[in-house]
Amino acid sequence: MEPKVLFSACLLGQKVRYDGGDVLTDHPAIKEWAQKGLLVSICPEVAGGLPVPRPPAEIQQPGGGQAVLTGHARVEDNQGADVSAAFIAGAEATLVLANKHQVQIAVMKEKSPSCGSSYIYDGNFQGNKLEGQGVAAALLKAKGVFLFSELELDQAYAKWKQLRASN
Ligand code: SF4
Repeated sequence: MEPKVLFSACLLGQKVRYDGGDVLTDHPAIKEWAQKGLLVSICPEVAGGLPVPRPPAEIQQPGGGQAVLTGHARVEDNQGADVSAAFIAGAEATLVLANKHQVQIAVMKEKSPSCGSSYIYDGNFQGNKLEGQGVAAALLKAKGVFLFSELELDQAYAKWKQLRASN
C-alpha cells in the first residue's frame, strides 16, 4: 500500500483560514497523490472548535508549539483571548487522524501557529517570523512524522518515494 500524506486543508483549497480564504497550492506531486487517493486533510484549528472566519492568533512565548503542548506558552488571538485549548485539541485531532491513516509524512502551511513546520510568527502580529513549529506540527514531529511546508513539495515527494520503496 502506498503511503498517505497528511495536508493542511487550506493548501488543498478548503476555505478554512482565519480570514475565510484558502492557500490552494499546485504541484505535480499533489495531483499524483490526489489521483491515487492518498491525501488526508485536516484544519487543526477548525478541528479544535474554532470558527471560520476567526481572529488571527499567534504563539506568545518562546518555544513554539512544543511549549504550548507542555503548558509553557499560550496561543492568543489579536484580541488577547487565550485560544490555547482549541489549538491543543486541534493538534490532538490531527494526530488521531494521522494515526488512523498510518501517516508518516505531512505537508503543512508554513508560519501558521498550528501548521508551521519550520517557522511561526513571533507573537506580535507584525508579520515577523522566527524558527519553530506550530502546535499541530510540533505534536506530529514529536511522534516521528516527517514535516514539510508547501515550499518543500519536491523534498516531500522525494521522501514519499523513499517511504514507498521501504514499505
Ligand atoms: Fe490552514 Fe493549518 Fe491554518 Fe487550518 S490551521 S487554516 S490548515 S494553516
